[in-house]
Amino acid sequence: MLRVWFEIPLWQRVLTALILGVLTGYAWGPEAESIKWIGDFFIKSIKMLVVPLIFFSLVAGVAAIGDLRKLGAVGGRAMILFIVTGQIAVWLGLALGTFVQPGAGVDTSAIAKGVTPEPNPTTAVDMILSIVPESPVQVMADVAVLPLIVFSLLIGIGILMAGKDGEPVQKIFDSGAVVMQKVTMIVMELTPFGVFALMAWVAGTLGMDALIALSKLVALNYIGCLLIIAVIYGSMIKFLAKLPVRDFFRGIVDAMAVSYSTASSNATLPVTLRCAERNLGVSNSVASFVIALGATINMNGTAMYLGLATLFGAQIFGVDLTMGDYFLISILATLGAVGAAGIPGAGLIMMALVFGAVGVPLETIAFVAGVDRIMDMMRTTTNVSGDAAVATTVAVMTGEIDREEMISADDV
Ligand code: ASP
Repeated sequence: MLRVWFEIPLWQRVLTALILGVLTGYAWGPEAESIKWIGDFFIKSIKMLVVPLIFFSLVAGVAAIGDLRKLGAVGGRAMILFIVTGQIAVWLGLALGTFVQPGAGVDTSAIAKGVTPEPNPTTAVDMILSIVPESPVQVMADVAVLPLIVFSLLIGIGILMAGKDGEPVQKIFDSGAVVMQKVTMIVMELTPFGVFALMAWVAGTLGMDALIALSKLVALNYIGCLLIIAVIYGSMIKFLAKLPVRDFFRGIVDAMAVSYSTASSNATLPVTLRCAERNLGVSNSVASFVIALGATINMNGTAMYLGLATLFGAQIFGVDLTMGDYFLISILATLGAVGAAGIPGAGLIMMALVFGAVGVPLETIAFVAGVDRIMDMMRTTTNVSGDAAVATTVAVMTGEIDREEMISADDV
């Protein structure tokens, strides 16, 4: 029985739970709130991961940049492309959220705001003081994300500066990041149950408006991701790499299919590498370096989604955001995408990082968790395509591409 359960792919179990949850909520009405505790259990398990996941993954991510410097020309160009495309992606998410207002018009008075994020610092001085991790242990105990990020970045930079002496510590963080990915996978097995309960609760207590708002969020997530793939990556290939866009996408179609079905950049890594080397003619050294690093830190779909979801949460809970908040979101969503592991559901966990800093209630996570998997599939496809696009562009810029291979991509 248990074997049969685990043999069904997780995404199929999640989608079934989603549909059954909505139907149950409709049939049961507000009483469905009585099973919300199952969803809360799931959300609590996710929150448990926030501190160790940010800490290990962000430190490991920054420390990995050490290799980037070694690779000089390749690393520098890849890093610039990662950062520029990441920022465009977040601002695209913020623009979509601002203009379409997917979370407007939902009456959330039935939702108890169980979790109040840390207060928004009011003045610039408060803001600066609040990001100093006075006591790193306290920061972790309070789940204070901003100072935790600062602390993690500093440790990562410290490892880079220590060079050889820092390697043992770097290994600990690399290994810790892998261990945390495994723990996340265990927690993700709770998703079908959490999703069922949360969707029943959303459908039963908040009704149709809430479901419409969620559908808008899903639609915007797809539109944003498709725009990133078609416009940002398409232009990168056309204007920077000066290669035929159609051949590029043909060459990575396997990686796109695998990433869409697994919702994991890490699981897709071998396929992405194979596509880049065999179908696009990217040299092995550039492909393995840029794509492996990209799978960890270059997540434009996730960055776009974090921006969009933060606005969604602010709209459903009526939180006013200033222009300063927008800039803060753009920085945090980029860091959240760097810190997110390349595994299913990582972006969902990173929402806590952005929400906490701008005063959006963490209850939003419970609200969107039910549909996260469908969105995750698309943002992972975006993340993986971005790694391939950057690897190809950098390979062209540094003369590490075999154009013959690219041309024969017609036969793939
Ligand atoms: N699942 C995504 C990935 O592996 C990360 C995310 O959840 O956004 O790339």
